[in-house]
Amino acid sequence: MEQSHVHTAPLPCGEQGLQKKHQCASVPCEGRTSQFDARTEARRGSFNKKTMQIIDGKATAAQIKAEIKAEVEAIVAQGGRAPHLAAVLVGHDGGSETYVRNKVLACEACGFQSTLLAFEDTITEEELLAVVDKLNKDEAIDGFIVQLPLPRHIDEQKVTEAILPEKDVDGFHPVNVGRMSIGLPAFISATPLGILTLLQRYNIETRGKKVAILGRSNIVGKPMSMLMMQKQYGDSTVTVLHSHSQNLAEECRQADILIAAIGSPAFVTADMVKPGAVVIDVGINRDENGKLCGDVDYAAIEPKASVITPVPGGVGPMTITMLLENTVRAVE
Ligand code: NDP
Repeated sequence: MEQSHVHTAPLPCGEQGLQKKHQCASVPCEGRTSQFDARTEARRGSFNKKTMQIIDGKATAAQIKAEIKAEVEAIVAQGGRAPHLAAVLVGHDGGSETYVRNKVLACEACGFQSTLLAFEDTITEEELLAVVDKLNKDEAIDGFIVQLPLPRHIDEQKVTEAILPEKDVDGFHPVNVGRMSIGLPAFISATPLGILTLLQRYNIETRGKKVAILGRSNIVGKPMSMLMMQKQYGDSTVTVLHSHSQNLAEECRQADILIAAIGSPAFVTADMVKPGAVVIDVGINRDENGKLCGDVDYAAIEPKASVITPVPGGVGPMTITMLLENTVRAVE
């Protein structure tokens, strides 16, 4: 498939590539897996693992957004058009409405054009597919998302597969998932891409490390496992754990990098973590007091881990930022 919007050639091992390779051994410059190009590459490596134990996803996301904004300003200054992201929202699910509103606000903050298309949940599958078709054909739209979940009478997979892969900035289309899996340039879904970016920005060594991923969902666990085992990025030995896994605690204990994405408050306890491990908490849950919390028992694990992401303020803020990153790449 011809994808003019993504960086299809390996990052040239020119000055920039070589420089970066030396800075961060986990990010080789040959045969790149994703849509990252030299500019994205230049956005990495700002933090030093030795001096930072708690990953500040909020600050990292803010920094990347500032970099994206500057990039958009430069495009516009050169007579180009600002990236245009469209979001399709169906129904009135409170969570979805908040997510979409935040995405639109983030677009505006970075100088993007954004279009919100909101429909009542009575929209038929056929009508929604017609909306997708129109967005596919609209040359003014660089990328778009259809916010999930959709009402039960609409087949989510059918809608996802109707989106043109080159406009699928959520990275959910099977073509993008497949290309990412075999190491070809592709749109990578925002949460795994955000985690990968955090690991890279904090110069965390992944090559040859044991990585345990708790959860095998299509939007987090599975793509994360594929990314961590790629030759270009992770080069890790990956174990994926789920609700039928045996010896789950022991598998976690062996991990140098533990990524928890299961949706269960404080599921990961201190005895499941190897001393000095890197712990990435993807979970967004409410505890018994209604307070936001992750999948990791943060207070107990923070003294034991070498690097940890808090909730809130860790992986979460990266997700929307990576959607913007994908949309900038879609323009290309
Ligand atoms: P899913 O519910 O789709 O998947 C959960 C996974 O965890 C499944 O693979 C399931 O196993 C596994 N699991 C659940 N309970 C257990 C258990 N007791 N032991 C072992 N495995 C278990 O969730 P998502 O991947 O969508 O999300 C996971 C978490 O991440 C949620 O808290 C969600 O809110 C959060 N999230 C955060 C994002 C962010 O931006 N920070 C973005 C997306 C999600 P099985 O497959 O066997 O059922």
